[in-house]
Amino acid sequence: MKVLAILFLVVAVSAKHEKYLGWKSYYLGPSTPGQMKAIGQLISEYDVDVLGHPVIGYEGVALVKPEVHDAFLEALQMEGIAYRVHRDDVKAALDQDDVLIERRRRENVARGGREMPYDNYQPLSVNKIFHSREWVTVPVVTYAIHKLVEDVTEPDLLERFDFVILPVVNPDGYEFSYNSERFWRKTRSTDTHASSSRCPGVDGNRNYDFFWNTVGVSPSPCDDIYPGNRPFSEIETRVVRDIIDEYLHRMALYLTMHSFGSMILYPWGHDGTLSNNAFALHTVGIAMADAIHDHQLPHYQPYTVGNAALVLWYGASGAAEDYAHLVGVPLSYTYELPGFSGTWDGFHLAPSAIEQVAKDTWEGVAVGARRAGDLFVTLKK
Ligand SMILES: [Zn+2]
Repeated sequence: MKVLAILFLVVAVSAKHEKYLGWKSYYLGPSTPGQMKAIGQLISEYDVDVLGHPVIGYEGVALVKPEVHDAFLEALQMEGIAYRVHRDDVKAALDQDDVLIERRRRENVARGGREMPYDNYQPLSVNKIFHSREWVTVPVVTYAIHKLVEDVTEPDLLERFDFVILPVVNPDGYEFSYNSERFWRKTRSTDTHASSSRCPGVDGNRNYDFFWNTVGVSPSPCDDIYPGNRPFSEIETRVVRDIIDEYLHRMALYLTMHSFGSMILYPWGHDGTLSNNAFALHTVGIAMADAIHDHQLPHYQPYTVGNAALVLWYGASGAAEDYAHLVGVPLSYTYELPGFSGTWDGFHLAPSAIEQVAKDTWEGVAVGARRAGDLFVTLKK
């Protein structure tokens, strides 16, 4: 009986990432603006999932379903876009990722310390991340809390500012990505479309009331970039909207954390035009990136700072960063955190690299807060 039980357990574990049987992932290395633009079109045409955004000179990573695999590669060849295999067997890579996360957890426990929430990926137990699968955002944000209330080395920050921090904006999606589908991106709502019971969820970062449902969206709830049936259809985005509303009169800086691509992006993300505050957005963005660069390990990809639609070469409507800026937050950014380094071996950032990324990002956040505070006085006059 014992043997049978163990066998059953093995089957149950390996079935976890079954959905991704036959899926592959590819590095994409565009080298011209035309190819950047083509990638934007191909990902919607072939429903390819961009895990890491490419820029010219730095590869991104795309997840490809078996149904579209051959056609997608053919299209890449037609466009002359360089690509190479990232993971030939995504399911196996995810199984390996689970092993690494568990190993890291045991190492942390063996070191005698309590498990720090910024030292590994975490199941949902901590008290702002958006897209559920972008797990590294959680330890990065909880580390910021740690630096503000536990290991206070920069007391000026708490003296000058109040911080409103939401480590997980999309808890249901996060939990689902942890326990069921690793690449789940959306919320888990089932009430926005006739097909929502079959294909639940809305892309939270397409659901804000900013040129809602105009660009970079799909009308199908089965797609990852479905914007919902109306702006703020999701409780998750309404919560953020209400927080912005409540503190707007003294909100100097809004940061929303995503992964990955090593980018600091600012409005307007739907069409690449610039806001009246673009100069400040760019300078403070550069200051944050410089602070991160001063600390990050040399083999990490440096940050690209710029307008979201111009850096990514495709527009998206209904994003949080744009909405915050539209209603009056002078400095509003999307961070795409670093995804991998030359030495990483898991599917995403190796668990052992998380704390370093959390520390690097904190440097950017701290500089951003100070610069925003200095500017806020001027801007609000
Ligand atoms: Zn995201």
